[in-house]
Amino acid sequence: MKRIGVLALQGAVREHLLAIESSGAEGVPVKTVAELEGLDGLVLPGGESTTMRRLLDRYELLEPIRRKALDGLPVFGTCAGLILLAGTIVGYEEPHLGLMDIEVERNSFGRQVDSFEVSLVIEGVGADFPAVFIRAPHIVSVGPEVEVLATHEGRIVLARQGRFLGCSFHPELTDDHRVMQYFIDVCVKSKESSGVGSV
Ligand code: GLN
Repeated sequence: MKRIGVLALQGAVREHLLAIESSGAEGVPVKTVAELEGLDGLVLPGGESTTMRRLLDRYELLEPIRRKALDGLPVFGTCAGLILLAGTIVGYEEPHLGLMDIEVERNSFGRQVDSFEVSLVIEGVGADFPAVFIRAPHIVSVGPEVEVLATHEGRIVLARQGRFLGCSFHPELTDDHRVMQYFIDVCVKSKESSGVGSV
């Protein structure tokens, strides 16, 4: 059984652990560097990216997570987690983890409505995926190695770069766990391949 960690400093941790368990993997809350050991994948949940960054610094987890990811650990960032993964954040000088070659903009659906649900068609996952957006960021642009998997009203909301996956919405808040299953599949394939480098 795959062991999938969920960064458990703040945000939608419990819901992700349940989504992982419902997808046939073991969900492991991660609060310390030691808990990063032996994982097959790591989820960075939604919440508040600036708060999460502060806690990542306080718990001295930012560099260890970055190192594990560069060493081959698959990482899935949702909402605030997507912001943590992005190489560029609109209006900010520096990224947080900066693992994906994407540019994101925070709170970019905020002026329309704070939170809403739409049905998405997702490449490699299927149609009618219920996506919940809560003060969500969107992906403004992607680099050449990044695959766009879903858009909403012309904005990129789910993208993949090898073993890294990032989405604007909260895939853990409904009973449809296809996106989590997709990530677990990425973790399985990543382990089967030679290890270091991409999936
Ligand atoms: N607006 C939040 C941020 O910028 C993200 C919202 C969420 O994760 N639901 O971090």
